[in-house]
Amino acid sequence: MIMALLTSSSLPRGLKVLAAFAGALLCIGYLSIFFPNRFEREWKTVHTPQAAAESQGFTPYHQLPNYGLAPGRRANATFVILARNSDLAGTVQSIRDMEDRFNRHYQYPYVFLNDEPFDDKFKEHISMLTDAKVEFGVIPKEHWQQPDWVDEPTAEAWRDWLVGEGIIYGESVAYRNMCRFNSGFFFHHPLLQKYRWYWRIEPDVRFHCDLHEDPFVFMEDNNKTYGFTISLIEFPETIRTLWDTVREFTALYPEYVPYDNSLDFVSDDGGETFNMCHFWSNFEIADMDFWRGPAYTAFFQYLEVKGGFYYERWGDAPVHSIAAALFLPKDQIHFFDEIGYEHPPFTHCPKSGNNWKKGRCTCDPENNFDFNEGSCLDRWSMFMNGSIYAPPTLEQAPDAEVEAAVGAEVKEKAKENPVPVPLD
Ligand code: GDP
Ligand code: MN
Repeated sequence: MIMALLTSSSLPRGLKVLAAFAGALLCIGYLSIFFPNRFEREWKTVHTPQAAAESQGFTPYHQLPNYGLAPGRRANATFVILARNSDLAGTVQSIRDMEDRFNRHYQYPYVFLNDEPFDDKFKEHISMLTDAKVEFGVIPKEHWQQPDWVDEPTAEAWRDWLVGEGIIYGESVAYRNMCRFNSGFFFHHPLLQKYRWYWRIEPDVRFHCDLHEDPFVFMEDNNKTYGFTISLIEFPETIRTLWDTVREFTALYPEYVPYDNSLDFVSDDGGETFNMCHFWSNFEIADMDFWRGPAYTAFFQYLEVKGGFYYERWGDAPVHSIAAALFLPKDQIHFFDEIGYEHPPFTHCPKSGNNWKKGRCTCDPENNFDFNEGSCLDRWSMFMNGSIYAPPTLEQAPDAEVEAAVGAEVKEKAKENPVPVPLD
């Protein structure tokens, strides 16, 4: 009918235009009857995202044209966050950073764990930050509480001693529960059984740079097991007998220690003593199958019965780090330079190549813990034979550069030796 009107030469020009417009409207109606979903989706998300936002309340990131999911496969991985309900504000900040810098393009799931049930406010405020799956779990009591066989008067006396030494969390049993849980139990939690890889996140941390590569897939493809960004020294008072216990264990189980381990990163004297260098475990990207495997299972059980999680204040950071250093070939430990990370008071800001620019980082590379006093990254770099920040030789580098890279003490030592040696 409309075609007849349009072709009729007797009609005035204005009426023809009107008929064409009516025809177009009818066609749109026809299309939306037969392909309603497709039509609506394209109209709303491609042409007028505002309309979609108005009708649905919001548009998921991954449906917006400029927020596409990264192509390629995903690893069997999750984020793990241990938190209290009172940690909500700090947790929101950490997850917001993670989503903005990485996960809105990858949609890895999150598992939140707590020794008490998360309240509704916590769940709501966290879940709305992401399109990824979010699960909230409670930790079984036996994975959290001080075991009955720990002699409480002895534990209390040693807590008092630590307080007298001015050591942070010296008095806290809750903190010891947390360290023991992170050392030996989180990877056994039912919600984590389906995953192999995890990235540990804490409340109140910052992720400072865009990530252009999936670190989980990187770990898997490059045969890595443990990834870190910050390495530093531990308070010796908190681990008075840990290294002796480690030595007893490795004497009993030498088969768990590969020849190309990282002993020389954690010890300055071939294993006689621990030099306190460890990876800061509030950031970890790692393979839970390593913690679930025979070496670490035996190791944790050996530590557990010594009671040092409660009589002392063994942290999950030195426990994990010593295990990674002794039970893994050194090439399975990876330093992630490109992940700008801040856990107050320390920041790792990328310095290598163009990582800082590429990541559009919000940290200042000059304000970097990497080579400050207390950091062990210089030692790691030299231990790994210069594969991260090549240790300059005296002949090659001007004095100022040597000092900037490895510090004045190493430079002094380097004068006596042809190759720079680690600090001791
Ligand atoms: P620090 O980084 O060593 O100073 O210790 P934090 O206070 O940051 O605690 C380490 C992690 O354990 C964080 O993810 C905390 O939210 C969590 N955490 C510490 N104590 C408790 C606790 O009593 N209950 C729960 N559910 N989480 C805790
Ligand atoms: Mn912390």
